[in-house]
Amino acid sequence: MFENGIIIVGGGHGGSQLAASLRSEGYDGPLRLVTAEGDIPYQRPPLSKAYLKDPAHDLLPLRPESFYDKNGIQLILASEVESIDAGARTLRLSDGAVLAFDGLAIATGARPRMPPIEGIHLAGVHALRVAAEARALRDRLATADSVVVVGGGFIGLEVAATARLLGRKVTVLEAADRLMGRVVAPEISRHFLGLHRGWGSDIRLGTPIGRIVGENGRVVAVEAAGERIPADLVLIGIGVLPNTEIAAAAGLSTDNGILVDDAMATSAPGIVAIGDCVSFPHAALGRRIRLESVQNAVDQAKIAARTLLGRPEPFDEVPWFWSDQGDVKLQMVGLPFGATRSVVRGRVEDNRFSVFHFADDRLLAIDSVNRPADHMVGRRLLAAGLSPSPEMCADESVDLKGLAVKMAET
Ligand code: FAD
Repeated sequence: MFENGIIIVGGGHGGSQLAASLRSEGYDGPLRLVTAEGDIPYQRPPLSKAYLKDPAHDLLPLRPESFYDKNGIQLILASEVESIDAGARTLRLSDGAVLAFDGLAIATGARPRMPPIEGIHLAGVHALRVAAEARALRDRLATADSVVVVGGGFIGLEVAATARLLGRKVTVLEAADRLMGRVVAPEISRHFLGLHRGWGSDIRLGTPIGRIVGENGRVVAVEAAGERIPADLVLIGIGVLPNTEIAAAAGLSTDNGILVDDAMATSAPGIVAIGDCVSFPHAALGRRIRLESVQNAVDQAKIAARTLLGRPEPFDEVPWFWSDQGDVKLQMVGLPFGATRSVVRGRVEDNRFSVFHFADDRLLAIDSVNRPADHMVGRRLLAAGLSPSPEMCADESVDLKGLAVKMAET
């Protein structure tokens, strides 16, 4: 059955986990992991945090190189899959080699969205997704004076906080009227606006970028809202595009992500897809969604391994995310879409609080600032489908952890 074995395309968080899960699920056939990057699979989140701050910080491998050797996982690094023939069950690499497979997993992640504006290709204009981009950004940050960050989402704000720690002048341009507006509560947006301003960043809301100005091929300024802001480094952080092209060209269904069912199977037999590149049916929301987080990629990989081995199970994990900005930890669990009410637990002034989102009395999501215990109990509550009342969540004298245990027992 598995003469040609399984090939995983993409060696990020999802791809690496899928290789490990296939082995732990008992698959002992040929297993190849092909990835465009030259580094063995590594942790991506530090690229905008510890790695960026400290030139002595190395990439953190997700698993040691010996893990792949010991488990018979052939790593094919610095090699891009150019095309897939889903019918013939072959794929073509950038060096022209053709590999045959019995099962295929697409874990190609996403790439930064670059706005089609004047000056986007100038030297000094950076994006941040992969290690090579992080190295280039870190080098440039070491000598830059003025940094303009385009986009007030997680990546932009993490880079802004790091650049301020390094003493750079930082301006953040955000087109919307609040920070991280796609994902967090307005209370959280307001709080982080205050934090970043307190750290010395010039944050401009409702300010889309106009164009990037260069001299001799290098960026010197950014124009926004009729103003010219000096810059010798520009970081574009306005979101990502899922890497779906090879899947679409192979005839797989795509629509803002590779379409998969609840067990990560694509529209082509024997092919699964996971992580940032997929759009999957979310049971509680009752619609498709594409998520961008480590936990999502890792948990989907575990399901996809079972699907490839003929033991599919529905994916039904509560999503959780985190973002470290400066010394502040923001953690989110659940999805706040459709929330009709929110309550705050803790004191915003103490820089330690959580916002609990409800649809009527049903708990949907929790955003926590420096309150990891709320986040952890939130994960338990949401996974078990339990909803303490909004009043209880807001009341700090209520022991939520104890309550979660009690509610689970009844
Ligand atoms: P990826 O990890 O992106 O891996 C995809 C891999 O596939 C890449 O190596 C890519 O080069 C390769 N590839 C693409 N196309 C091909 C091809 N045709 N052939 C071969 N290889 C290919 N998430 C959090 O939850 N918390 C955080 O704090 C956080 N911080 C982040 C900070 C940064 C700077 C970035 C960029 C992301 C961060 N994320 C964070 C998001 C998280 O890293 C992603 O959600 C996660 O990596 C998704 O895993 P994935 O396996 O789907 O894709």
